[in-house]
Amino acid sequence: MEAAFLHDGVVYIERERGNMLRLGLTPEAAREHLEAKYRIYSREKGAFTCACCGQRVVMVLYEDKAIFRHYDIESCTGEKNYAAYNAGRERAAELVRKHADGMELLREALSERHGEHYTAEEGYLHKKELRHVPDFLLTFDNGEKWALDYIVALRGDSLYRRRLRSRLSSYRANGFKPLFLLDRAWLAVTESAYISYNQSELEMRLPANPYDERWRHAISDLPMPLPGPVHSIVYLDVPKAQAVLTRFQLSGDRWGRLLFEPSELALPELLAADESLLTETGERMLKLFKPGEQSAISRYCGRLKQELLMAREEEAAVQKEAHKPGLKERQEIRRSVNPVSGAAIAAPAIPAADASKLLSLLERCKQSPRRPDYPGLENNLARAEVCVARVMGGADDAEDCYRAAWSLLRNMSYPLLGE
Ligand SMILES: [Zn+2]
Repeated sequence: MEAAFLHDGVVYIERERGNMLRLGLTPEAAREHLEAKYRIYSREKGAFTCACCGQRVVMVLYEDKAIFRHYDIESCTGEKNYAAYNAGRERAAELVRKHADGMELLREALSERHGEHYTAEEGYLHKKELRHVPDFLLTFDNGEKWALDYIVALRGDSLYRRRLRSRLSSYRANGFKPLFLLDRAWLAVTESAYISYNQSELEMRLPANPYDERWRHAISDLPMPLPGPVHSIVYLDVPKAQAVLTRFQLSGDRWGRLLFEPSELALPELLAADESLLTETGERMLKLFKPGEQSAISRYCGRLKQELLMAREEEAAVQKEAHKPGLKERQEIRRSVNPVSGAAIAAPAIPAADASKLLSLLERCKQSPRRPDYPGLENNLARAEVCVARVMGGADDAEDCYRAAWSLLRNMSYPLLGE
């Protein structure tokens, strides 16, 4: 394993080696440095003891790795956990480096919070043998445990998913709440505020928490066509040293409708225990809620209410229009009222550029991923399509159709396209 006690401190040997490499030392020079610094404690004094079981361990320096080893590997669960931890880790050098950088960042953030309401340790130091070992284990003062993992490789295949499920069920069996931080490289968001995820990614969402529940509760009070659960996925931006929080409602099996733009959060903030929950309910929870999010909930719901109201008014207006005499009949009436100008009423041509703008707006509305969420707009979309077809076909009521189509599409473009 990589951690051992030396007197009253813990030496993270592989981490120390990694830091030297980052500073530009060659692997050979780093090894020599560690050898010179610790050899006497390791061999001659027998001063290193295991951070898990307390038995004596020795430093072993490989060309590409530095570890501590027990004389009797079988006697320590930490050593077994370390082997299981390594077996589950990425092998590619680039991913190993990326993961190490993220771990370093998390260690720093955790050390700021360590001892406030929980203690944090490397997962493999857990006293019980684990089949799947998390990067870190957080133990709250009431004994509740969180498994924290930084995920650098995300795949969509079934093998990856099976392993993930096995990990999740092992965490459940041990009573660990999972907190996965996915590398930010995996965050994919469209301009229309949809997040794209694969099924493994969705399974790495936050466990049930009061924050998703606050959103769900507020939204389910609205006259929404499709209210549903709210989920969150957290990403880790290592270069910026920040977490990125996303919250969304499902929309199909690969898309989530974001409730706000992905929000950056300082890591020590994300990893702080929620003091107000602790006081109010005694619940131990990491503060996976961004500052000011409570008012974001009210704003979001207010806006949605407005949109729904507008869509309904528009629909009612169109229904009313449908009961009036048809366009053709109205033109007939106008002609009969003013027979002199009758000939001039024959449809003026709509400029081609305007017609094509209209057509492109129609197509974008039709292809919007939000369309399934607003079944109430389908009638208007169909009406708009008929109108646009008449405009494009140069029908004699083209001008009226042009105006009607614009009015219909403009009202739909907010809910469907967010513009
Ligand atoms: Zn041990």
